[in-house]
Amino acid sequence: MPEMPEVEQVRKTLAPKIVGSKIKKVEVLLDRIIKYPTVAEFIKVVKNKTITSIERRGKYLALHFSKDQFILIHLRMTGALLVMPKTETAPKYATVKFELENGLNLWFTDIRTFGTMHLITNKDVVIESYENLGPEPLSKEFTLEYLKEKIKKSKKPIKTFILDQNVIAGLGNIYADEALAVANIYPAKEANTLKAKEQQALYVGINQVIKQGIKNKGTTFRDYKDADGNKGSNQNKLLVYSRKGKPCKTCGTLLEGMKIGGRGTVYCKKCQK
Ligand SMILES: [Zn+2]
Repeated sequence: MPEMPEVEQVRKTLAPKIVGSKIKKVEVLLDRIIKYPTVAEFIKVVKNKTITSIERRGKYLALHFSKDQFILIHLRMTGALLVMPKTETAPKYATVKFELENGLNLWFTDIRTFGTMHLITNKDVVIESYENLGPEPLSKEFTLEYLKEKIKKSKKPIKTFILDQNVIAGLGNIYADEALAVANIYPAKEANTLKAKEQQALYVGINQVIKQGIKNKGTTFRDYKDADGNKGSNQNKLLVYSRKGKPCKTCGTLLEGMKIGGRGTVYCKKCQK
């Protein structure tokens, strides 16, 4: 699933191609991607609107027509936004097509079809998972004091805790495993038992892995691509994620796997205590 660095890379590669352009026509090829309002209403409102900006919050993208009117997009498992010349035929797994007046088509493709779009005007609909997002790594709101305050109150395994989008926006399974590896913390450890030094290491680890992911244009395992159709390179830099049974890059011990809150987790039993 695309996480914060991947969604940010999509935003960066989309912006120069679509911002400032008017949407001439909308075609919805799979109705259930449009969660609000109805498909007919969605098409009616979006047609002839000019895209003024594209913003990201957590793993959400917002295609703005004005400050208070935007399409809120979540890529979920396999959603992708691709920009192609209008002369090119529909990409595989196309679900929504926006024809732009600049001669490009913006396509939403989705193999598993869990992706979503909501058209929001003056907060006429409240998407709780969006409204309640916690601060983002690398933002000034995400301070060590904030993290400590939240950790103190949680009895969840630390991995489950940092995956909670209401606590920190943007981390998924990849960057959560990586942050815990950087911080040398055992992923199943109860959050409120972390010592001050561990809290500090986790804070540094979260920011570090997100920063590295953005720098490497995201992590691609199967389906994630940016708006240019390019893959990221961060998969080559990972310490633990997807490396179960391979040697730890620090100590050489073979990495182990376990399930935490139903999520596959990889860690080094020697380095992560
Ligand atoms: Zn190790």
